[in-house]
Amino acid sequence: MPYKLDEIDTAILRSLFTDGRKSFRQISREIKVSTPTVTTRYQRLVSVGLIKGVYPTLDLGKLESRARSKLNHASRSDRDDKKLGISSKVKLSCDYCDGPVAGRPAMLRFASFERFFCCKSCRALYKEKYRSKMASISSSRHQ
Ligand SMILES: [Zn+2]
Repeated sequence: MPYKLDEIDTAILRSLFTDGRKSFRQISREIKVSTPTVTTRYQRLVSVGLIKGVYPTLDLGKLESRARSKLNHASRSDRDDKKLGISSKVKLSCDYCDGPVAGRPAMLRFASFERFFCCKSCRALYKEKYRSKMASISSSRHQ
């Protein structure tokens, strides 16, 4: 089952389209949801692989024509923005085996991270593999 975007997710993404360096607090004031909610949702959008990074928006008109044609193909944000809407679905892939997640994903939460798995055994294997790493993350947060 893909992850379905709701109003909050799309509001956060739209807000980031205007300025990708905004703080979670600024976004929270702008779209009127709490900062922890913005933080959790942002982390989740990163976890499901939708947010790959935050890039500068260029004014291509400032470039001389040769450089512009080189960069043109890289500027896709307008088109991406049109595809985005409430109920847009994000394809999930398993964080352990990388296979597609069909049906309800098995989830794992620790610290502020969420991981998605195609099945419970992938989740168990992932836990096993990263047990010491997860333990160090959660203990460092509680010290
Ligand atoms: Zn899997």
